[in-house]
Amino acid sequence: MNVLVINCGSSSLKYQLIDSYTEKVLAKGLCERIGIDGSMLTHQPEGKDKIVTQTDMPNHTVAVELVIKSLTDRENGVIDSLEEIGAVGHRVVHGGESFAESVVINDEVMKAIEDCNDLAPLHNPANLIGIRACQELMPDVPMVAVFDTAFHQTMPKKAYYYGLPHEYYEKYKVRRYGFHGTSHSYVSKRVAEILGKDYGSLKTIVCHLGNGASISAVMNGKCVDTSMGLTPLEGLIMGTRSGDLDPAILGYIAGKENLTLDEVTNILNKKSGVLGLSGVSSDFRDLEAAANDGNQLAIDTLDTYYYRVAKYIGAYAATMNGVDVIAFTAGVGENNITGREQVVSYLGYLGADVVPEKNNVRGKEQVISSDQAKVKVMVVPTNEELAIARETVRLV
Ligand code: ADP
Repeated sequence: MNVLVINCGSSSLKYQLIDSYTEKVLAKGLCERIGIDGSMLTHQPEGKDKIVTQTDMPNHTVAVELVIKSLTDRENGVIDSLEEIGAVGHRVVHGGESFAESVVINDEVMKAIEDCNDLAPLHNPANLIGIRACQELMPDVPMVAVFDTAFHQTMPKKAYYYGLPHEYYEKYKVRRYGFHGTSHSYVSKRVAEILGKDYGSLKTIVCHLGNGASISAVMNGKCVDTSMGLTPLEGLIMGTRSGDLDPAILGYIAGKENLTLDEVTNILNKKSGVLGLSGVSSDFRDLEAAANDGNQLAIDTLDTYYYRVAKYIGAYAATMNGVDVIAFTAGVGENNITGREQVVSYLGYLGADVVPEKNNVRGKEQVISSDQAKVKVMVVPTNEELAIARETVRLV
């Protein structure tokens, strides 16, 4: 079956068409600037060059229409007609406490996703728009919602409660949810497969280090803790997000700079992280180049970033009473060779190490620790689209 995987943002839409039998990507692409002047579609059929088309996309329905047109195009398409799409898998950011698993989408599910809009005001409404656009154009094709939060729903209360008046949990569901769940689930399972171990009796710490970054502790096949919280702002230092802070900093900066809380929150989301601290860039390639040129603030920023990652690994090794595997994934985790070395340099006491020759790898599954290391350290490229396609096939 061919599964169309959709990841819809407020002005963008990413897609992949995956053959579920071979698990090959037949085509993938991106619609940008939907509803804004200068919208464009980048379509890439497997094994062919990218085709970029500048065309008006006033809304997401038009964008989905164009995606279908590209997929079925005579010259650059990969299928003959819409009938060859067996199901659609949608990435949905926030499932709140309603969804601990992926689900087949119906009216009730749509309502429940809408009920989570408050928890992810930038993402969930866009996800719903993407689903509705697909339903309009493919009314008979089954659709599945795969939630970023679902994998983390197994966390115990002690991991998801905040030290706040309990009424805020009861009234507003303020608690830790965690994100990147599809990636943490995929990578932790893949770790067990690669090592030939039982997923149900392994302690794994997954470091998803991309533009957004989060760490999870997966014990005996279940997520028991993760670094992102009510929103993706908590935890590690990220590309542009601050991660953990003394909460009093918000009011302090608001007072000093004469800003509203919304304005400070925006700074914490968009202008902080390694970008804000270094003043160089949110991209680790730029940061490494600046550090190599002797930029002291870039050097300090990278140090601070890796220190925080190591600190979380230590915390999760403590709460799980040990760890068998530490896995690095996403853009930085998969590609940043010195970064992995730096993080693991803190973890000798756990029995983790890195062999430079093995660590000299980008975007490839590999064990990078020595044979005698007590804790295996691995690079495991994530594949959220494939995970969504698999979930979709499982449910339809
Ligand atoms: P997103 O969260 O947007 O999906 P990615 O997982 O694609 O992010 O990660 C993006 C980050 O990966 C970039 O900011 C970049 O710093 C980092 N990255 C990508 N390639 C490399 C590389 N070769 N070396 C170091 N960092 C890299």
